[in-house]
Amino acid sequence: MILFEYTSRSLICQAYRAKIMLFMAKKARKKRGILVVVSGPSGVGKSTVVRRILKLNKNIKLSVSATTRPPRPGETHGEHYYFLSQEEFDQKVRNNEFVEWAKVHGYYYGTLVSTIKEQLIKGGTTVCEVDVQGAASIKEVLGKGKLKTATVFIFLIPPSVDILAFRLKKRKTENLEVVNYRLRAAIAELQVMEKYDYIVVNDRVESAAEKIQAIINVEKERTLLN
Ligand code: ADP
Ligand code: 5GP
Repeated sequence: MILFEYTSRSLICQAYRAKIMLFMAKKARKKRGILVVVSGPSGVGKSTVVRRILKLNKNIKLSVSATTRPPRPGETHGEHYYFLSQEEFDQKVRNNEFVEWAKVHGYYYGTLVSTIKEQLIKGGTTVCEVDVQGAASIKEVLGKGKLKTATVFIFLIPPSVDILAFRLKKRKTENLEVVNYRLRAAIAELQVMEKYDYIVVNDRVESAAEKIQAIINVEKERTLLN
C-alpha cells in the first residue's frame, strides 16, 4: 500500500514536471530566434541563393548589411544594402554599431547589431550573407555561450572552380582585373570551409535553397533541445 502510494505520487510528480518542461520548451521555441550565416567565396551565389530562400519562405528575414560600395543597377537602399558614405560607415564603427565589419574587395561591409538583435529577440529566422572574414567575426561574437545554438554557419561552395570563374565573369559587375583578384581570393577562402557547420554545393539555385531550408528546419528543432 505504502509502495503503491509512493509510486503514484512519484508518477504525479513526474507528470507535473513533464508538463512544466513542455510548457518551457514551447515558450523557448516561440521566443528563440535563429541566425543563419551564409558565407563562401565571392561569386559562389550567396545573394542569389539567399534571395531564393526569402522567396520560398516569407517568414525568413534578411539581415540587411551596410556597405560603402556604390549600388549596382537595380539595387535599392534598405533592401539590398544600406548604402553609406565612408564617413557614415566610420561613425557606425566608432559607435560600435556593427557585430562585425570587414573590408571586402576594396569596400567596407558590416552587419548591424540592431538588425540581428531585433530579429533574434523577435524569435524569427534571420539570414545574413557575409564574406568569410565576417562569418569568422560573427562566430567570435555570437558563437559562444547561450547564443551558440542559435547561430548556424553555412558555407556555400561552387560545383567547381571553373564554374565559379564563369559565374564571376557572367555577373559582369566587375572588370576582368577585379574578377581575377576575387577568383584568387576565392580559392584561398575555400580552405576555411571545414570550420562551418554545413557545406552546401550551389549546383542549382533551387536545390541549394531547398538544402538550406532543410538545415533551417532541423536547426530550429535543435535550438529547442539545447
Ligand atoms: P555572391 O553573392 O556569392 O558574390 P552572386 O549571387 O552575385 O554571388 O552570384 C554570382 C553570379 O552567379 C550571378 O550572375 C548569379 O546569377 C550566378 N549564379 C548564382 N548561383 C547560380 C547557380 N546555381 N547556377 C548558375 N548561376 C548562378
Ligand atoms: P557584393 O559587393 O558582391 O554585394 O559583396 C561582396 C562580398 O561582401 C560578398 O562576399 C558578400 O558576402 C560580402 N558581404 C556582404 N555583406 C557583408 C557584411 O555585412 N559583412 C561582411 N563581412 N561581408 C559582407
